[in-house]
Amino acid sequence: MKVWGLNSANSQLKKSWFSSPREGFSRLMQVMQDQEWSESIPMLSWAIEHPREGIILVDAGEHPRALEQKNYPALNRMLNRNMVRFPEPFQPALDQQLKAKGIHASDVSHIIITHLHQDHVGYLSLFPKARVLVSRAEFEATEKPFAHMKGYWPSLFPESFKPDLVDFKDGTFHNFESSKMLFDDLWVVPTPGHSPGHQSVIVKSQGRYLVLAGDVTPSMKYFELDTVDMVSAVGGPQQARQSKQKMVQFTKEQHALYLPSHCSTSLPRLEAFYQQKTLA
Ligand SMILES: [Zn+2]
Repeated sequence: MKVWGLNSANSQLKKSWFSSPREGFSRLMQVMQDQEWSESIPMLSWAIEHPREGIILVDAGEHPRALEQKNYPALNRMLNRNMVRFPEPFQPALDQQLKAKGIHASDVSHIIITHLHQDHVGYLSLFPKARVLVSRAEFEATEKPFAHMKGYWPSLFPESFKPDLVDFKDGTFHNFESSKMLFDDLWVVPTPGHSPGHQSVIVKSQGRYLVLAGDVTPSMKYFELDTVDMVSAVGGPQQARQSKQKMVQFTKEQHALYLPSHCSTSLPRLEAFYQQKTLA
């Protein structure tokens, strides 16, 4: 099995978005007032080339449609403008990036979505034949009143979106109390906090666990610090800390490669891992 990364766009967020002692409304205000933008960060999805199951995607990127202000209520347009910006044009669509590797959209058998924020679901409609897996808690969160205040935009989901819901009934997986074993070398574990039903994907590739971690942390830099990103600070800071602690423990004990969606080091670290394997 081999994993590679697909970057749909580069963006910048306010620096205090990543880390701050403040939580709740006060954090939101801090981010709005912050004048400093972060370095450019990627919006990553992953393609798993599975020896028996075809191509499995983890997340489906950010589509340029997410920039169209008409998709958001007025309050959110203002929040968006003050929290995120895109300094350069978007990367080619995910199906084009796959095509460059000789993969057709119909080769994608499964898409596991870490969570349903817009930067992880953008290109879902390009893969109508794929089985889409979302945690039950995450999907239900999108159907609750004021779901848009938690960053869910059903208008950006594919038409009549009906994913398969993940319930984590396959028992413990190392230090995670519950898990879903999708295949004998691919597990999904609950990592709530950044969103109510956030999940992470763990695969075994060339003898090592790779963690496709979604937004458990915004990057590697904050992995072992007692901080949460702005979304978690407003939504579920305690859960986010617990999920991060479990992930830190797993990564250390298993010598796993931890790959968050928005870390500028995720792609180079993955590439270095496979290069070392080839050299060895
Ligand atoms: Zn994200």
